[in-house]
Amino acid sequence: MTKASISSLIITGSLAFSGCGGSSETITDDETSETPSTDILAVDTTLFDSAAVVSVETIDCTLSNGDDSSCYAITVTGFPSDRTELGHFCPTDINTEAESAGKWFDDGVLYDLTGEFVSNLDLFYGNSEWQLFDADTGEIFITDTQVSCEAAARPDVAEEYQNHCVQCELTYYADEGQGVESTFLLPINPVFRETSGDIGMSNIGVSLNGVNLAAAAPTQAILSAFTIAAFDDCVGHVNPIDGYHYHGANHGDGECPAVEFEADGHAGIFGYALDGFAIYGMLDENGEEATDLDECRGQTDEVRGYHYHSAGPGENAFIGCFSGETANSTDI
Ligand SMILES: [Zn+2]
Ligand SMILES: [Zn+2]
Repeated sequence: MTKASISSLIITGSLAFSGCGGSSETITDDETSETPSTDILAVDTTLFDSAAVVSVETIDCTLSNGDDSSCYAITVTGFPSDRTELGHFCPTDINTEAESAGKWFDDGVLYDLTGEFVSNLDLFYGNSEWQLFDADTGEIFITDTQVSCEAAARPDVAEEYQNHCVQCELTYYADEGQGVESTFLLPINPVFRETSGDIGMSNIGVSLNGVNLAAAAPTQAILSAFTIAAFDDCVGHVNPIDGYHYHGANHGDGECPAVEFEADGHAGIFGYALDGFAIYGMLDENGEEATDLDECRGQTDEVRGYHYHSAGPGENAFIGCFSGETANSTDI
């Protein structure tokens, strides 16, 4: 929401095609893996929904450990290909029900952002300064113009936009029904890091339906301005930089990004992290979460090699850290 700049891992310049270099990077061992040489599957770009992909190029890249490698530069549409429209986000008044409202998360829990929820924010956060609605009409204060959404979706929110439910429309930044294109670099053959890498404030990956898997939403900054940066049921919303982006995977009542369970009942894949390892849903077809996840929320099995399982939809995260090296292009 208030990210000041696009991650250096997202590149927007033109990319020179370099062909497949067949690089010979060294695969280093890692405490998260017992047999790393057989635990690594190459990125499979055919898993992306073709409707979500603008282009895929193979380029030279430099990994975060300094090694030269080959990466896919995959440009996605930025509009979720499994949906026709976004929203709902903010409730319009204090009587708005869940089916006409989006979500908000706090302390690991994803809440329906109903009118009732918004009208009780003073109690929820234990601070009487919360007043997101007109006490006479019940109308909720929403940033319903581009000027107001941009004034509220940044640090140091002007006082006039405090106590607003913040939503930006994607149509401010893209044509109707389209998204903001972004290019992501994925190491074709992931390389384990020697120590896990902090995900920091950068975006962490891309979904197979063409959407940015964003860094954690800066909830402290959002709440300190008495604002709610409303999500839709897919835990996504719009900012001026990334367009539509996800802050969580909701495979409960949101069922997005779309996934299908694997043939063996394992959770379904929905994206790739920027280190090239795949990200699967949190739960398997029996509703169970894996018990052997490492600190990055990764595990290894014979079918999928090393891979991540997403955090829950209210956790403000997808993975805990990067187990693999991320990449920068050498062509830009
Ligand atoms: Zn956001
Ligand atoms: Zn798994």
